[in-house]
Amino acid sequence: KLTVQDVSEFKNLVENPELAIIESEDEIAPYNVDWIGKIKGDCKLVIRPSSTEEVSKVLKHCNHRQIAVVPQGGNTGLVGGSVPIKDEIVISMNRMNRIHGFDNTYNIVRTDAGVILENLMEYLKPFGYMPPVDLGARGSCHIGGNLATNAGGMKFLKYNSMHANTIGLKAVLADGTILDDMKCLRKDNTGYDLKQLFIGSEGTLGIITEAAILCPKIPSDSNVALLACNSFEDVTKILVKAKEILGTNLSAIEYFDNACNRVVSSVLKITNPLGDDHRFYVLTEASDYGLPTPVASSDDQPASGEQGNLVEEKLFALFDSISDLIVDGVVAQDSSQTNAIWKTREGIAEGFVK
Ligand SMILES: Cc1cc2nc3c(=O)[nH]c(=O)nc-3n(C[C@H](O)[C@H](O)[C@H](O)COP(=O)(O)OP(=O)(O)OC[C@H]3O[C@@H](n4cnc5c(N)ncnc54)[C@H](O)[C@@H]3O)c2cc1C
Repeated sequence: KLTVQDVSEFKNLVENPELAIIESEDEIAPYNVDWIGKIKGDCKLVIRPSSTEEVSKVLKHCNHRQIAVVPQGGNTGLVGGSVPIKDEIVISMNRMNRIHGFDNTYNIVRTDAGVILENLMEYLKPFGYMPPVDLGARGSCHIGGNLATNAGGMKFLKYNSMHANTIGLKAVLADGTILDDMKCLRKDNTGYDLKQLFIGSEGTLGIITEAAILCPKIPSDSNVALLACNSFEDVTKILVKAKEILGTNLSAIEYFDNACNRVVSSVLKITNPLGDDHRFYVLTEASDYGLPTPVASSDDQPASGEQGNLVEEKLFALFDSISDLIVDGVVAQDSSQTNAIWKTREGIAEGFVK
């Protein structure tokens, strides 16, 4: 049981207790409830460390006193893993939010675990690179949370898993021991690959505090198509054809059924260009990686420029080759259509829980 002495000990262990320790019920409230709003804990103390060393000291004391803890990232997990069940202490990573640098030679970014995914995206943009993972919760979820959940996201098919893209990792074990595997050597074929154990471990093995992540190049152009078909079998046939025809230009392919589509349109008022009448929808994105990426935001640009036409042509070739499988289809002609198509996919989780 947490005592007054424990709280004052925690205050001694961190550099800025006024920032790191939250005791007020009102301020604790958002840490006690999950993103869906269904799972609620009864935590009485939130600790927000600012360094690996502070995480280590806090966990050492918790281990010594047998105080239960829950690591929390952006608290966007949809399965209640980030909130207490009872009165566990929440260790929030939201003050560990420094990006340590991007290595242009090896395309590796070194970052604290508490960096919000979207902030990492913005940081990498001027270099022409991006994180290998992207998901609808990008504005809140942490890269540490992405690692702890082995988040798949919407670009998994192209850029692979967090396992494949994590080059280095630092974590603190339950007894406070720091495991430092931030060598950042890509071709490291020595010994056990302990960092892999933490990816997808949901905080059960320790708290991830830093990571080195391999980043892919931002495509110079992307075109998105939405296809409609009548069966899941047809979805899989479209996948096979898309891989064959788009080859390395295939940067995303996601399917959703009409139940998902209807939830998004009725709850979030997002309508996809093909309407509500189809059983299955397949979102296909083709990208070109040939040209350098402009630094400025391209929100107002048309989706297809000269290079865009190349991938657009490939998308139309795909359409031709699957004409017997699809009942309708559209290639986005501008960024607002592209956004509308992506928003349908991204809104599914939110639509179902609202
Ligand atoms: C709109 C929306 C869309 C989503 N889309 C996707 C999707 O496409 N693909 C997908 O995989 N998920 C998706 N999710 C789920 C969720 O966003 C991801 O699981 C995300 O990776 C969680 O990150 P987080 O920082 O919010 O972690 P949290 O929710 O805070 O925590 C998740 C788990 O990881 C642990 N944890 C968090 N940080 C650490 C750390 N530093 N060290 C150790 N353990 C830690 C927590 O204890 C908990 O068990 C979506 C969620 C929303 C709300």
